[in-house]
Formats: sequence, C-alpha cells, structure tokens
Amino acid sequence: MFLLMTGSDATKVFIKSPDGMYLSGAGKDWAFTEHRNKATVFDYTRDRIAEQLEGLQKTQGIVLLVVRVDPKEIHERCDGCDELVAPARAFFDGKNFFCGDCKK
Ligand SMILES: [Zn+2]
Repeated sequence: MFLLMTGSDATKVFIKSPDGMYLSGAGKDWAFTEHRNKATVFDYTRDRIAEQLEGLQKTQGIVLLVVRVDPKEIHERCDGCDELVAPARAFFDGKNFFCGDCKK
C-alpha cells in the first residue's frame, strides 16, 4: 500500500512505520522518532523510495509508509545549533547549513 506519486520530480516525503514513528537519521545510522520535526525528509524520486521500501518489504518483511511532506514543513537543520531553519533563511557554505545566528 504505497502512495503512488506521479508528475513531480521534487516530491518530499517522510517514511513512517505502521505504529506512527518517523524514520530519522542518515547513512547507516537509522532510527525511528515520534517527532515529526526530527524526521528525515526524503526525495521520493531521487532516493528511489518506492524501490527501497519494496526491497525492505521483500527481504525484511517490514512495511513502511510514505507520507507526503507539505512544502511549508521543509526546513534545513542548522549545523551550528541544531535548530530548524526555513530554507529561505538558511545559509549553505557548500558543506553545512547555518541559521542567521550561527552564520555570524
Ligand atoms: Zn544555528
């Protein structure tokens, strides 16, 4: 029961477990969190979410859900103070994101 999404290259999604926890983390360091603002935002197309979830289901028997992210919800996380920053107000130095305060 995956959400079928077409017509957009930039669909941002959360991955959610059946008991309502959000997938967070990166690389090999995955965890589930109940806090939506700590959940990792995936690019449905670029991260090949449909394939990955299908693989998980087949190999691990784990069924995860795709939840579409409201674009207004997407924030960058400041690497200086760990606060969420609206994309329009975030600074990216090529490696890290910073909020207005940490940029100084
Ligand atoms: Zn900051």
